[in-house]
Amino acid sequence: MTKENVSTKICSKCKVEKESADYYTNKTGKFCKLCISHINKLKRRKKNIKKDIIDYEKAVNDGLICTKCNKLVPLNRLIKDMTLKFNVKKVCLPCNSKTSREFYNNNVDKCIERTKKWRGENKEHRAEYEKAYSAKNAERKKASQRERYKRNPLPLIQKVKERADAEKLATPIWANKDYISLWYKLAKIEQERTGMKIHVDHIIPLISDVVCGLHCEDNFQLLTAGDNIRKGRKFNSDGSCYAKD
Ligand SMILES: [Zn+2]
Ligand SMILES: [Zn+2]
Repeated sequence: MTKENVSTKICSKCKVEKESADYYTNKTGKFCKLCISHINKLKRRKKNIKKDIIDYEKAVNDGLICTKCNKLVPLNRLIKDMTLKFNVKKVCLPCNSKTSREFYNNNVDKCIERTKKWRGENKEHRAEYEKAYSAKNAERKKASQRERYKRNPLPLIQKVKERADAEKLATPIWANKDYISLWYKLAKIEQERTGMKIHVDHIIPLISDVVCGLHCEDNFQLLTAGDNIRKGRKFNSDGSCYAKD
């Protein structure tokens, strides 16, 4: 095919010389197919933006209907989702917490497993977070503890004494005092290394409703303060800090 046999026309929008197949034959316009589709797209978008603005103003004033409870809810009482229109999901906060609670109750094992997995995969992220959190709260916490101690020192002294007694009682004669102090030294080293508060935890708790652990080197593990508090006096045979009941 030679060039002379093909009739061409210059599009008056994009100024490109194009073959007649690139133009709509039933339209007498001077714009090519591509330019026409582009123009239509822009028109549609303009119309949608106008409609969106009207819808948004209405949503701000009246709220949106929650798809779960069918009640009209103000925007700030809906679940935030930046990927959706108006940055909200059409589910209200109470409905959302109800659904997640139900889901948790029906899938306890799965949820625990998932949290565990997430924690394992995000160890660094979590360490960063706990570090920042304890740094932010350390001063405040110390101040409030000092305040409490000044007001009423007895309970704290009592608590420390009780704890010492419990440890003494739970220490078997064969426990190795050097190993025990090594664990506490190790905790200190870890604390300096990670910048997080590290506790020497009794895998089997000293004081609990079901078991009484020993205060000796075989019953120790290092936990971050957060994990230790989460574990509390729960007893999990694997020493983990997650509730299993
Ligand atoms: Zn064109
Ligand atoms: Zn609702």
